[in-house]
Amino acid sequence: MSEYDYDLFVIGAGSGGVRASRLAASFGAKVAVAEERFLGGTCVNVGCIPKKLLVYASAFREELKEATEGYGWSVGEAQFDWATLIENKNREIERLNGVYAHLLDSSGVETIEGRAVIEGPNSVSVAGRHFSARHILVATGGRAFRPPEIEGIEHAITSDEAFYLEDLPKSILVMGGGYIAVEFAGIFSGLGVEVCQLYRGPLFLRGFDDDLRAHLADEIREAGVNLVFDRVPTQIERCSNGVRVTLDDGQILEADYLLAATGRIPYSADLGLEKAGVKVASNGAIEVDEYSQTNIPSIHAIGDVTDRMNLTPVAIHEAICLANTLFADRPMAPSHACVPAAVFSQPPLGTVGLTEAEAREQGFKVDIYRSSFRGLKQTLTSSRSRTLMKLVVDQETDRVLGAHMAGHEAAEIIQGLAVAVKAGLTKGQWDATLPIHPTLAEEFVTLREPVGLID
Ligand code: NDP
Repeated sequence: MSEYDYDLFVIGAGSGGVRASRLAASFGAKVAVAEERFLGGTCVNVGCIPKKLLVYASAFREELKEATEGYGWSVGEAQFDWATLIENKNREIERLNGVYAHLLDSSGVETIEGRAVIEGPNSVSVAGRHFSARHILVATGGRAFRPPEIEGIEHAITSDEAFYLEDLPKSILVMGGGYIAVEFAGIFSGLGVEVCQLYRGPLFLRGFDDDLRAHLADEIREAGVNLVFDRVPTQIERCSNGVRVTLDDGQILEADYLLAATGRIPYSADLGLEKAGVKVASNGAIEVDEYSQTNIPSIHAIGDVTDRMNLTPVAIHEAICLANTLFADRPMAPSHACVPAAVFSQPPLGTVGLTEAEAREQGFKVDIYRSSFRGLKQTLTSSRSRTLMKLVVDQETDRVLGAHMAGHEAAEIIQGLAVAVKAGLTKGQWDATLPIHPTLAEEFVTLREPVGLID
């Protein structure tokens, strides 16, 4: 009989925690997972899944416009009901919560409701109950961050609340220039809300390829979102109709809500980490080695709480590697290279590999292939929306280092191309691939001439 109650005690039943629990159990480990809020974590409850459903809902406005403008359809006056959408979305999330409960149960993982606190390298407590474990895994994710230096920031909502608003606002201010800000600005704008997005820098989506950022800003402005860059709120007050926001240049803006989409921080406070001697960075991120092990050998951490690359598939990948390392005698270090990502803006962005700036910083001499064009679907409509595609190619080896796209189905297209970029295929191999005609994606294998021969 084992000297511990469990081989693995997981704190947090989000994407990473659930995958680690189930896989460890399938390798024969005795596993428990504690969860204080909801099964499925951020992704299922207040992240990827409900966000994508809202993105789908908001895209119909443009599709209806295109259908009636150019494709011979006539429909009566279109009506949208927010309450119906939120109710349907909530029902789907409840279904997914049930699926997660079933998956854990059928894998033989014990689910414990409540907040777990680490008591020592091998002990955990949940609501007064004490458990011992050979390994402890912290997979508690992150929480929305609101900049405390802004006076009245408590009047701002975060994405958590935006998913549950009772009524569709008439107007909203979105603060931030990252994934969440851009995605929610698109959602609300598509649903007919007057949207103003405030970002503190000169151009949003820092870290993405510069051509994509500039292109998306043009597209979003064209779609009617008021983009205000190089500005930050200094004061937020409640007013009769919502919020009154003073910007750093003295401008005053009013809207029903201010959505603070100003990042997320690791959810590591009051978990007992200090007591157990686990090293935590100043932003709350749990420090781990390449195998997701903390400085205390029996305690491990994966996902957003480690602030490595805060994406659901990355947390799942880290979970798979950890379970193999601990319970299958197959040490696996997660790879954070060449991870594809998408921003579900309107139009969406898809990206994999190095941006042009990153490639140059890393010393590559690169050829850039770029194309901006109007998609066939738009030709019968008044839409001026354009698609942008870009390849970053290493001159020396001909390897495609990065592929980037802004336009319809960018996420779907880049997911396929990510295989080629991850595999290190050359531009010559891309060119040898025949296109599917007519598609947007075919442009990626028919880009023949590099632009701006700077190098
Ligand atoms: P991000 O870190 O992507 O963006 C935060 C934004 O807020 C940045 O534009 C940042 O500006 C700005 N900001 C931060 N602090 C302040 C401040 N004090 N005052 C004004 N502006 C500020 O976070 P998100 O909240 O958008 O998303 C959190 C994480 O969730 C992301 O890192 C992403 O990994 C994940 N996510 C992924 C999605 C996807 O895969 N599609 C969708 C949604 C979230 P600056 O750039 O200048 O630092």
